[in-house]
Amino acid sequence: MALHEAMLYEKQDEKKVKCKLCARRCLISDNATGFCLARKNESGTLFTLNYGKAVSAAVDPIGKKPLSHFNPGAQVMSIAAAGCNFRCQFCDNWMVSQDHEVVGRPFSPADVVKAAREKNCQGISYTYTEPTIYMEYAYDTARIAHQVGFFNNFVTNGYMTPEAVETIGPYLDAATVDFKAGGDPDFYKSVSAVPNVTPIYEALKELKLHDVHIEITNLVIPKIGDSMERIKDMATWIKNYLGKDTPFHLLRFHPDYKMTTIPTTPVETLEKAYMTAKEAGLNYAYLGNVPGHPAENTYCPNCNELVIKRYSFEITRWNLTKDMHCPICGHAIPIKGRLHPTGATFPYALF
Ligand code: SF4
Repeated sequence: MALHEAMLYEKQDEKKVKCKLCARRCLISDNATGFCLARKNESGTLFTLNYGKAVSAAVDPIGKKPLSHFNPGAQVMSIAAAGCNFRCQFCDNWMVSQDHEVVGRPFSPADVVKAAREKNCQGISYTYTEPTIYMEYAYDTARIAHQVGFFNNFVTNGYMTPEAVETIGPYLDAATVDFKAGGDPDFYKSVSAVPNVTPIYEALKELKLHDVHIEITNLVIPKIGDSMERIKDMATWIKNYLGKDTPFHLLRFHPDYKMTTIPTTPVETLEKAYMTAKEAGLNYAYLGNVPGHPAENTYCPNCNELVIKRYSFEITRWNLTKDMHCPICGHAIPIKGRLHPTGATFPYALF
C-alpha cells in the first residue's frame, strides 16, 4: 500500500517535521519515526505508516467500550491499527500497540464501513490501540461512516492535541477516555512513559466543546494506583468540568505484559472507589471487569430504582420509559441515542 501523507504536522528547517497529532508533539528528523513508531519523516514529508492497515477487526457490544449511556445495546465494528503513544507496562494489547514493526492487513476505510453494514452494526469504534496515532485512517473511515448513518466512537488515552480534537470532533459521536491510577502524574511518568497529564484534561474540555458524548474510565491498580484521594479528585474534576451525569467506570486491573507481579484488584477496593465517586457527586459510577456485580447496573439517582440491569457487556433488563425516564419517579436518565435490540453472540472477530 502506498504511503499516506500525515495530517497535522509542520515542516521545519533541515527537513525536520513537527507532528501536532498527540501531545508529545514530536520533532522528527529526516528518515526517523515519531515516538509512536507509526509516523515517519521522509525527506521533510511526514507519512502515516498504519493508514488502511488494521491489526484487528471485530464486532463488539457497545458495553465493551465501555459506553453505558450511548446507544445501549448497539453493536459496533471495532478496528485497530498498530502503534501507541504510551508505553503502559500493563497493556493488554501490547502485541499490537508496542510492536516495533507497523503490521496489519489491508482494510480500507470503505472496507471497514462495508463490513460494519454487512455485520449489522450501528457504529464504528476505534479501539484496542490508541486511535489518535491512526487519525488519518480513523478520520477517513469516520467520514464515510457518517455518510451512511453510523456513529463513531474513540476509545482513547486522551493524549490528543486540541488540533486533533478539532479535526476529528465533527465526526466523533462518543469518546471513552481511559485514565489509569486516578491520573497520578508520577504513575503516568514511571509506568506509561507520559511526561505530563495536563493535555488529557485539556482534550476532554475540547471534546465537551464539540458536544461529543464522553464516558470516563479509570483503571484501579492495587497499591501503586488505588489512592481514594485521587479518585475523589478525579470524580470532582469530572463533575465540575464535564457534569455530574458523566458516566465514570472504575475498572479492575488484571496482571499483564510487564506487570505480572501485581495482583488483580480486590473487589473491596473497587467498591470503595465506587462509593468515593458517588460521594464526590457523580450520579453514574460503574464497576468494570467484575461480571455480575450490582455496580454494573444503572440506578435512578433520584429514587434509586434499578433502571438498566447488566451482566458484563450485556443488558439483561431494561426498565426505562420510551423517553428514557425512570418509571417510578419520572427522573430523566441521560441516554444519548436509542435502545438497540441485539441478538448477536460475542465476541465475533473478523481477524
Ligand atoms: S502521534 Fe504523537 S507520538 Fe506519534 S509522531 Fe505524532 S506527536 Fe509523536
